[in-house]
Amino acid sequence: MTQIYDRVALIGLGLIASSMAHAMRRSGLAGEIVGTARSGETRDTARELGFCDRVVDTAIEAVAGADLVVLAMPVGAMETVAREIGSHIANGATVTDVGSVKRAVVDAVAPHLPDHVDFIPGHPLAGTEHSGPRSGFAELFENRYCILLPGDGADPDAVDRLTRYWEAMGAIVETMDVDHHDLVLAVTSHTPHLIAYTMVGVADDLRRVTDSEVIKYSAGGFRDFTRIAASDPTMWRDVFLNNKEATLEILGRFTEELFALQRAIRTGDGDHLFDYFTHTRAIRRGIIEAGQDTDAPDFGRGGKKT
Ligand code: NAP
Repeated sequence: MTQIYDRVALIGLGLIASSMAHAMRRSGLAGEIVGTARSGETRDTARELGFCDRVVDTAIEAVAGADLVVLAMPVGAMETVAREIGSHIANGATVTDVGSVKRAVVDAVAPHLPDHVDFIPGHPLAGTEHSGPRSGFAELFENRYCILLPGDGADPDAVDRLTRYWEAMGAIVETMDVDHHDLVLAVTSHTPHLIAYTMVGVADDLRRVTDSEVIKYSAGGFRDFTRIAASDPTMWRDVFLNNKEATLEILGRFTEELFALQRAIRTGDGDHLFDYFTHTRAIRRGIIEAGQDTDAPDFGRGGKKT
């Protein structure tokens, strides 16, 4: 039990915030956890589940006296919340967020925070296709990367404290430049999600394959796409609206590669296909060797992590 912050304010009480609360509780990282969400329904659910010490009705009440404030709502809502709470945050507090894109969040949030606050954006690379306060669990961040984006002027002590906090929740902390983060995530997360959404949408359009067949025979890759494509629509809408340039760049590259594979299939260029798939198989091995997935036969299906 190592308390790192006296009072942590969670604004937004969905998958990420509730998982943070469970993980904080497990390791005694916060003297008090105060939470709030937009709707009375979510606040009531959080009260019923009891993962916060107090659930309050407004973000202003939540940040009072907190030495760590976590913005854990969809990226598109962060500017409004930052504007609301900016002048109510305690002297010397750290403000962080968990948003999946970073440039848009920094531009939206930083102008509303006073100088006596350390703003250290963050992004835990952990999630599931489930959302809401009931979906959280203490192990979500275990052995997952959490990227912090402190910027040049950040106070090293505040960065060190936030790093220890994430590590105590099981994460591996790395720091990164804001724009580089958005490009990396466009490759590793955002574009793959868009492709999954598209593939599931295409299958839905193909009326020659009936709905029951799509569901019945979905083991061959499609099932993994459907899991990803079940992710929260609000969150993912905001991701694409706020990481436009990097996602469009990677989509352009993706389209070129897809055309090349299409041509190889049409012309019967087996060597091209074989070489391509050999290369991609090596990338998969690298992910397993880095401990970021398992090569168990049911990978991704039995576990909750993405
Ligand atoms: P979630 O389960 O959908 O929960 C979002 C929470 O934000 C809800 O409690 C919602 O309250 C609240 N909220 C929305 N607008 C608000 C506002 N204006 N003021 C206060 N609270 C507000 O979302 P999540 O999956 O935890 O995602 C939260 C953030 O983490 C997002 O920025 C997302 O990009 C990022 N993230 C998600 C994942 C993932 O895989 N899910 C992974 C890494 C990072 P109501 O329920 O009352 O609407």
